[in-house]
Amino acid sequence: MTAPTHGRENPSPRKGSPQGELAGYEIREYLLEKFGRKCAYCTATNVPLQIEHLVPKGRHGSNRVSNLTIACKPCHDAKGTRTAAEFGHPELQAQARAPLRDAAAVNATRWALSRRLLATGLPLETGTGGRTKWNRTTRELPKTHWLDAVCVGASTPERFRVGGVIAWLITAMRRHRRQMGRTSAAGFPDKKAKATSVVGGLRTGDLVRAVVPTGSVKAGVYIGRLAIRATGACNVKTPQRPIEGIHVR
Ligand SMILES: [Zn+2]
Repeated sequence: MTAPTHGRENPSPRKGSPQGELAGYEIREYLLEKFGRKCAYCTATNVPLQIEHLVPKGRHGSNRVSNLTIACKPCHDAKGTRTAAEFGHPELQAQARAPLRDAAAVNATRWALSRRLLATGLPLETGTGGRTKWNRTTRELPKTHWLDAVCVGASTPERFRVGGVIAWLITAMRRHRRQMGRTSAAGFPDKKAKATSVVGGLRTGDLVRAVVPTGSVKAGVYIGRLAIRATGACNVKTPQRPIEGIHVR
């Protein structure tokens, strides 16, 4: 990620950010997930959402997640010093107290995976979505998938060059179906197993550079993904258009 670049260096992050800020991001992400990324009062989506105290702090409401939800600013302002129940939403109190079950399940799986990986003896670090967002935001980086990937974990460098870096995006291609013989609706063997799509060491999904010699109407050089046809000829899907019927040679 520190590839040579002639672009700008991202500005230095704010120094000495208190740990509390990171915790704030974690809590916000938790609440967004728990309340479905919409205002808990008016269900507005795609509006700025803020952390909201069900029982206001001014009325001795705590900062624990069991007293927190997320709300849009108009609802937050309209609610004022009222509790969520007084504001017409008594159900939110129970919802806030309930643990986030799906997230708990994800966490359990994550820790099981983490322990297995630790057992390999390889250096391992874990992070959270909240940490990633905090890392990215404090480094003033735009929201992209690859920059999120760069910002995972506590070991994210304070500064790194991003100008001129082009992310190499990899798409996972499906493999063959595993089924060895296809069956009819009644469950009887019906068709032969799907024929292999490996031709000349190439298979569907491979990135190829096809050179079609001059003299052919399709003459040219094509770079793209390969699709093997039943005839043994190939299609090459270039970013511009698919080129059909190229011989594997
Ligand atoms: Zn609202």
